[in-house]
Order: sequence, then C-alpha cells, then structure tokens
Amino acid sequence: MIFKDECLKIALLPKREAFFMALGRMDRVKPNKAQRKRVLVANANRCCVCKRQGIGLHLHHIDEDPSNTIDENLAVLCVEDHDRHHRPGVYRPRVNHLELGPDQIRQRKKSWEAFVIEARQPNPKVVATLAAYGSFRLIHSLQLVMQWPDERIEYTRSYHLLDGTLDKLTDAVMEEISQIGRNVKLMVVNEPLSVEHCPCCEAGLSRTIKPAVVIRHTDPDWPTDSSCAIYINPERPWITILFFLRREQLLEGSLHLCGGRFLHYHSDGIDERVAVRPHPSKRAQVTRIVRKLLQEWSPATVFIGTGDPDTPELLDGLKLPAFWE
Ligand SMILES: [Zn+2]
Repeated sequence: MIFKDECLKIALLPKREAFFMALGRMDRVKPNKAQRKRVLVANANRCCVCKRQGIGLHLHHIDEDPSNTIDENLAVLCVEDHDRHHRPGVYRPRVNHLELGPDQIRQRKKSWEAFVIEARQPNPKVVATLAAYGSFRLIHSLQLVMQWPDERIEYTRSYHLLDGTLDKLTDAVMEEISQIGRNVKLMVVNEPLSVEHCPCCEAGLSRTIKPAVVIRHTDPDWPTDSSCAIYINPERPWITILFFLRREQLLEGSLHLCGGRFLHYHSDGIDERVAVRPHPSKRAQVTRIVRKLLQEWSPATVFIGTGDPDTPELLDGLKLPAFWE
C-alpha cells in the first residue's frame, strides 16, 4: 500500500520533479567549483562549528533544501559535525550540550565568517591568546583561544605535547593564526597555568582578554590618542586611575591602602593585593606600582589631579598626602 501511495503522489507531480523525487534527490544543485572555493575561503577552510580543517569538509544546505544553493545557505561542516547534525540521537548521550539544528548552524556560520573578515583586516579588532598548561619544568599542553573584543570566544584549540615538541606545537599555533588572519595580535599568558578548565562551561581561569586590553593592543590610535587620569583622594589613602581612548573611558581602577598592611589594586576583573614592606616608604611603593601600570598601558598623556573631583587641581607628579604612611 505504501508503494501505491508513493506512486500516486509522484504521478501527480510534474514529470521532471517526479523523476528527481524518484531518485531521492529533488532538484539538487551542486555548488560549482568557484562557489565551493569562495565559501571555503570565507570560512578560512575550516568547519564553522569546530573550526577544524583537513578532516573532510562538506558544504551543507542549512535549510535542507538542496536546490537552495546560495552562499548564505551553505555551511562548511566537517564530516563529524555534519553527521552530528543529521543523526543527533547518536551523539546526544555523549555531547548533550551541543545542539546542532539549522538555527545553530546558521548562527555559527554567520559568526565565524564575520570573525574571518575581521581577522583579515589590517588592524583586526579580534585577538588570539595562547596559554600554556603545566609548570615551567613541563608544559604539557597549549591552548589557543581567539576572541572578539567583548571577550566572546569564537575559536579554541588545544595542542598536546603528545603531538610533538613544544617548538613544533608553537610553530603550528603561529601557522594556524596566520591562516585565519596574518595581522591578528597574539598575546601569550606569561606563566604556565596549573589548572586546565572546562572548555564548555567556561569555568575556571580566565582565558580571555578584557575588552580594554584588547583595544589597547589593537587600536592603531592608542599611542597618540590615549590618556590616563589619576585622581588622588585628598581625604583618605585612595587613588583612582582611569584610562581613556579618544575621550571614551575604557577602564577604571583604584589603588588604596587596605588595613595599613596591603596595597590593593582593583579594576575590571583584576584584584591584586600586595603586602606593604617596611622599606621604602608606602608612598614610594605606591609610586612604583603606578609607574609599572603606566609602563604597561603606555598612554600618550597622563594627568594627575587632586582636590575637588569635579574641578581637580592638576599636579606635576604623583604627590601623595602624608596620611598614606
Ligand atoms: Zn566540525
């Protein structure tokens, strides 16, 4: 009976369509060579979901209509993610956090292609961070993270010492970044991290770079149009440090004397307490911290003020009141 119904349906359709349907491939339009190349290049020859390459890439019709072969409907998927999409039941017990329906694929494609466009700019606003895991004596793995300025992670990849020497892995990382965008700035976490954290729930150590730091490293106007304003509170041992680019405030930090025993620096995501030493004076220790901060940020101009916060009196140096001691 099933066969009869199917035949009936086919008989009612126009001839050509019926023919393709009978073959099980209704109006399938294969992307031509040029289109395939264009879509692959827009995706840096990587799967838009896992960003891997060299494991068999398919062009998948996102809306499941094989005749809709326009660039916007073609997602580059590796064999594994393509299969994950078509047979979710097989993967769900193991990878239960990754739904790979049409909406997710469309979103991944859009985001990755936009990322690749940005990465190929002369001064990309996206950055890469390389963290090493292990100890100085033995680094067992590297993790490369590529992010948007707002800390949204677009790409992660781990490199394990099992796959080669550290030099070989570092070369592979550099090659990977240059394939995606040769001008993307790479930041290296300067100490090996002891704890590797969950790559899916983002718990654990921060692997991303704060938005203000991304701007400092990527905006070509930083060396000329940045400034730092340091406000010395006239009533208590507290200074406020603000960084600006083109008059827009990027970061606010504060440094204060905490219980007389610590110098506490606090700003977006950073909370550092340094024990006060007996020598030199507390004011000299504060000056040293501020100088280090200014060296790190290298703003074009520095303003130091005190008194009324609305109309501060400008000073020509970091002159801290005696109550800091
Ligand atoms: Zn993939």
